[in-house]
Amino acid sequence: MRLARFNEGHIGIVIGDEIIDVNDLVEHELQAWPIVAMNRLIAQFDHYRPILEKALNRPRIPLANVKLLTPIPASSKVIAYPINYHDHAAEMGREVKANNLGFFLKPTSSLSGASDPIVLPDLPDRRIDHECELAIIIGKRGRDIPRENWKEYVFGYSCLMDIVVRGKEERVARKAYDTFCPVGPWIMTADELGDPTQLQGRLWVNGELRQDANTRDLIVDIPGMIEIASHIMTLEPGDIIAAGTPAGVGPIRGGDQVKIEFERIGSMTVAVEQSRGGKASIFKPSIVE
Ligand code: MN
Repeated sequence: MRLARFNEGHIGIVIGDEIIDVNDLVEHELQAWPIVAMNRLIAQFDHYRPILEKALNRPRIPLANVKLLTPIPASSKVIAYPINYHDHAAEMGREVKANNLGFFLKPTSSLSGASDPIVLPDLPDRRIDHECELAIIIGKRGRDIPRENWKEYVFGYSCLMDIVVRGKEERVARKAYDTFCPVGPWIMTADELGDPTQLQGRLWVNGELRQDANTRDLIVDIPGMIEIASHIMTLEPGDIIAAGTPAGVGPIRGGDQVKIEFERIGSMTVAVEQSRGGKASIFKPSIVE
């Protein structure tokens, strides 16, 4: 099942290129903050699944006529594994990889959706890059999860772009801007996706293929990422794990169109906009040593 959020925050089921509004079956407090309808749906999916399946004969709305939102705006955390493909480690000249580094966190305020632009800060001297990543959506609370139990804790998958200002400042600050974590276009549930260990992911900028890799080449695999993170933090329904990027990262600029696709999940194309904000004082022009 493909689960999405759209328009004013309605929950929907995506079938082909259409969406069915099932919001009345799930959540009524659209405007209440934090926006946890999807977290609750994920946490109680065994209860909701038969209810949602009965709604599949409802009228369908063309996806082209709706605004797709980020699926889990109130995820309790976005866990991101850096340097998790050997070819990306090589292009960045990095010796230490995710199996020793572990992970960092992106703020949930950086999440955006398929219909939202990536808004670049006004840092003309700095390179701002795309990273193409698989998003793993946690389905069940867990701590100290042994790797062999990983499947119990995965709800589904999505496409994720980890956007970053390159530089030597604290990584989290460089990756925390609003809209620097597009996730979407929806969540594909794990039961329908099948085996996630052989998934091809691709990213294009203005139609030019920049990244093209398979999850079989991950350094820390999906069970390993769940095992590592859960030995440090309690994982919660709706938590997002960004699996790391393969080689081919590169700059994006205002006016660009960035497309991401993972097979058996879907694709989304997001626009890039240049803003005049975001000039944090930590970002000095190139330092002369
Ligand atoms: Mn990344």
